[in-house]
Amino acid sequence: MTDNQGRTIDYLRISVTDRCNLRCVYCMPEEGTENIPHDRIMTYDEILRVCRILAEHGLEKIKITGGEPLVRKDVVWLIKELKKIPGIINVTITTNGVLLKEQYEALIEAGIDAITVSLDTLDPEIYRQITRRDELSHVLEGIRYAAEQGKVRLKINCVPVLGTKKQGILELMEHIRQYDIDLRFIEMMPIGLGKQFHFVSEDVLRRLIEDTYGEMTLYCEKRGNGPCRYYDVPGFTGKIGFISAMSHKFCHECNRVRLTADGFLKTCLQYDCGVALKPALSEGISDDKLWKMMEEAILHKPQAHHFEEEKGAAEDEERGMSQIGG
Ligand code: SAM
Ligand code: SF4
Repeated sequence: MTDNQGRTIDYLRISVTDRCNLRCVYCMPEEGTENIPHDRIMTYDEILRVCRILAEHGLEKIKITGGEPLVRKDVVWLIKELKKIPGIINVTITTNGVLLKEQYEALIEAGIDAITVSLDTLDPEIYRQITRRDELSHVLEGIRYAAEQGKVRLKINCVPVLGTKKQGILELMEHIRQYDIDLRFIEMMPIGLGKQFHFVSEDVLRRLIEDTYGEMTLYCEKRGNGPCRYYDVPGFTGKIGFISAMSHKFCHECNRVRLTADGFLKTCLQYDCGVALKPALSEGISDDKLWKMMEEAILHKPQAHHFEEEKGAAEDEERGMSQIGG
């Protein structure tokens, strides 16, 4: 699949649920979240059908995300089925890690290819402040267990939101150093509740890391499915990566579309553009027509995001990150 800009689209991120067992300040409100009713959430059969059709047209890589994907019942079954689809070479998951230890073996058995855990800090009080829950010890247990088992590549995602010192970025680096784990810093994007926060730029983090550990060297080989730029840092086995949508825009090489929990095929993170698949699926659309709908949406994938510009465009996304999946 290519879009009108000539970009190859081979990667789909699926938000399997908008529900979550945490309430991160930049992603979900503390209370009053209205969950999407069950009958508007994509069923596993619908997700599999969409993926089978997309795989016939070049889809190769799938990310399972959410909300928190591990709170959706039988998500491991979905992963197992996705792995059977001809053409799909890579199925990975991004989780907050709270339920990782108890589901790790089942994920491995299902054939998961890599696991990413989101962890913004090691400080229990700051963790509570960011996630509004007291789950740090479970997340750290999950990470330790997965790192010790070492059956698939493990990554940590960190969004600096309260400042590098308060959040203990260097302490996080020190903790990761004992493992063969990649640690990736994500610049906060002005989506949903993220609009209330400023991003910490890659340049600021790189300076901090280089002042502490010495010069970083760009890792030139391909690693992962996305736009993350990886570096070797002296003393670290894993790589340190940056996903810098704000300071180093990567739209020209964007290879992805997203499927929201309510079945909207979303072609750009910023804009509400794409196509609603759920109503068509419920009405019994044929595979041919379903592909035509998706093809049309993919062709018109926006050229770039404009996060840096004034907000308020009519087509700006109303959904929060937990519905989109990050
Ligand atoms: N619940 C899972 C988790 O937290 O890993 C998966 C869903 S979460 C929406 C996926 C990723 O998006 C997480 O790493 C989270 O930190 C990140 N995220 C959420 N809101 C964001 C924002 N406004 N800007 C940048 N990253 C964000
Ligand atoms: Fe939940 Fe992930 Fe959003 Fe945090 S970032 S509230 S863990 S979906």
